[in-house]
Amino acid sequence: MKKLLSVFLAVCILLSVCGFSAAAEDTADAYSDYPVIIVPGYGASPLFSVNGDGSLGEQVWGWNIIMDRLTEQLKKSFPELLSGAVTLTLGSAKELGEALGNAAAEMLGTLAFNGDGESVYNIAPLPNDPSLCRWDLFEENFDGDLYSEKEIGRTLDDYVPEDRIFNFAVDFRYGAQYNAEKLDEFICRVKDYTGKDKVNLYAVSHGGQVAATYLHRYGDKGDVYNAVLTVPAIGGSYVAYDVLTGSLAAQEDELLLFIENALYLEQDFEMLLKTQPLGFVDDILINMLPGLKQVAGLWESLWDFLPYERYREVFSTVDEEACAGLLAKTTEFHENVMANIGESLRRCRENGINVSIVAGTGNAIVTGSQQNSDAIIHTSGATGAKVAPLGKRFANGYICEGGVCGDPAHDHLSPSMEIDASCAYLPENTWFVDGMFHGMTFNEDYAEELAVRLLLTDTLPDVHADPAFPQFRASENRAYAVYGSFVDSPSGYIDKDSAVYTVKNLSEEYELRILSIYADGLDLRFEGDYGRLLAPGESADFRVTGRIPAVSTARAAVTVTFRLKGSYTPYNHRTFRYTVNNGAPARYDAENPLADRDFTPPVAAVLSEPVVNILQKAGLLEFVSMWFNILLGLLMRIKNLFPAA
Ligand SMILES: [Zn+2]
Repeated sequence: MKKLLSVFLAVCILLSVCGFSAAAEDTADAYSDYPVIIVPGYGASPLFSVNGDGSLGEQVWGWNIIMDRLTEQLKKSFPELLSGAVTLTLGSAKELGEALGNAAAEMLGTLAFNGDGESVYNIAPLPNDPSLCRWDLFEENFDGDLYSEKEIGRTLDDYVPEDRIFNFAVDFRYGAQYNAEKLDEFICRVKDYTGKDKVNLYAVSHGGQVAATYLHRYGDKGDVYNAVLTVPAIGGSYVAYDVLTGSLAAQEDELLLFIENALYLEQDFEMLLKTQPLGFVDDILINMLPGLKQVAGLWESLWDFLPYERYREVFSTVDEEACAGLLAKTTEFHENVMANIGESLRRCRENGINVSIVAGTGNAIVTGSQQNSDAIIHTSGATGAKVAPLGKRFANGYICEGGVCGDPAHDHLSPSMEIDASCAYLPENTWFVDGMFHGMTFNEDYAEELAVRLLLTDTLPDVHADPAFPQFRASENRAYAVYGSFVDSPSGYIDKDSAVYTVKNLSEEYELRILSIYADGLDLRFEGDYGRLLAPGESADFRVTGRIPAVSTARAAVTVTFRLKGSYTPYNHRTFRYTVNNGAPARYDAENPLADRDFTPPVAAVLSEPVVNILQKAGLLEFVSMWFNILLGLLMRIKNLFPAA
C-alpha cells in the first residue's frame, strides 16, 4: 500500500508540475491593449547547451525532456533502484533515495554552478526576441513543447489577442537581479517591437521575485502599466531553506491536496494519507539530497530564495571561502533588494505603476516548514504581511499593527484572524485566497477573474473597490467540492444581517448532498432542505437561526459536511473561518496574543482526553470528527421533523 502510494505520489507530482489549467470563456473589449509579458515560474523555461559559434545546442532542461530522461535513467539504474526498493520493504529507504539522487546528478549534472555563482557549462535559455517568442509565433519558431507556462498563455489568450502575449525566457538558475536585468532588456525590446510605451506583466512564483526585483531596480523608468505578481516568491521560499539545510519532513497530505487542486481531482485522497504513517518518504528525500545538491546546491536562485530571517543560518552548510563569490551576490540581494522591497513596490505605485499581489494562504509548506503558505511560498514572504504561526491565529480583539497602513477606517485583518495585512508590502493592493495552492491562480474561476481584472483593467484600484473581490476570500477550486458564505454579509464576516447561509456545489462532475452545517464559536443553527441533491454548480440556501453575539473581532467557523454522489471518496467536510462583526470589539488579552486557529472539534467534547490523543496520533481525529458531525446533523434534522418532541 505504501509503495503504491509513493508511486502514485511521484506520478502525480510530475503531472502537476507539467501544469493543467481551466479554460476561460469571456472576452471583453474593455481590456488594456498593452502587450502582456509572462514572467514564468521556477524551472518553466527550457535550457540549452551553447555551441562554439554561439548557437543553441542540445536541450539540457525542460519538462518535456525530463520525462524522457527519467524513463531512460530508470532503465539504466533499474538494478540499483530495485535493490533500493527491496531494502525499502525491510524498512529503509536509504538506498532508494541515494539511487534516485545519483540518477538526478547524472541526468542533470551539466546544470551545476560553481562557488562564484556561475554556470560551470555554457548554457542558455531560448532567445528573448519578441519576433520569435510572440505567443502566436512560438510554435512556428520553436518546438511547441518548449512553451514555458503554456497553461497560463492558453488562459490569457482567451482575453488578449495572441499576438500581444510574449514569453520571457529565464535561466532560472541565476538570481533575481541577473534575471531582472534580462527582463528590463526584454521589456524594452517588446516596447520597440509593438510600438507601445508600456507593457503589462503577469509574473508567477520565481517570476514574482524577478518582477519585484525589476520594479525595485527599473520601476522608475515607467515601462510597466499593470503588474500582477501571483503566488510570488518576493520574500523567498521555505522550500529552499528545507532543501539546503536538509531539514525535510514531507507533508504528504498537504502535497496530495495540492495535487488534487492542480488536477481538479474531485476525489479526496488526502484523508486516506492522514491515516498512513509515511515517514519513508522523508527517508527517500533526505537520501536523495546529496545528489540533488550536486546539481542545484550552488544555484544563485536557490540562495536568493532563502527567507531573509533564515539566510545567514544556511552559510554553515557550505565552504564559505570556496563560495565567497556566490554568497557576495546573494547577500547583496538580501540586504539591498529583499530588505527594501516593500518600499520599492510602494514607490512604483506612487509613480503610477499598478502593482498588485495575489497570494495563497492556509497551507503548510510541503517540505516541512510549519509556515502559513500556499504550500511552497510562505504568505509573509509573498506579501510582507504579519502572519500568525501555522495553526495559530491572533487572539480575539486583535488590532492591526498598522506598520504600513494606519488608516483606522481600514480593516486589514483576515476574517480567519491569521493575517495582518496592514504591514504588507502593499496593504491596499494585496489579495489573499485562503486554501489556494501554489501556481493555481487559473485553476478556479474566482482567482482567475481577479488576476485577469488586475492584469488587463484598472477596475480594481484597491482591495476596497469591489465587494466581490475583498482582500480575503476562500478558494473556489473545485477540489474543495463546496463553497459556503453568508448571503447578505461582507465576505468572511458574520453580522446582524447574517440570516441566510448559502452552499455552492463546486463540482463539475458530481451531484452533492449537504449532510450537516455546524457553527463553532457561536450558537447557530442552519435550517434548510438537507435531502436535496445539488447539481454541479448549484447552490442551496439555509436559514440561519440562533444568537449572533453583539461583539466584534471574535472568531467563529462554519463546517459543512457533504456527500459527493458517485465520487470514490464521497464523504468530506470543509471549514470556513469567520469574524463576528456585530458590536463592540472583544477584549484583547495582550498576555495571550495568539490562540489556536481551529476550534476543538465537537467530537472532542464527548470523548475523553486520552481517546482524543490516541485518535490524533493515529491521524484519525479528523475522520472521526467528520462522521460525528454527520451524525449530529442527522440527529438535528430528525429533531426538526418532530418539533414537538
Ligand atoms: Zn489600508
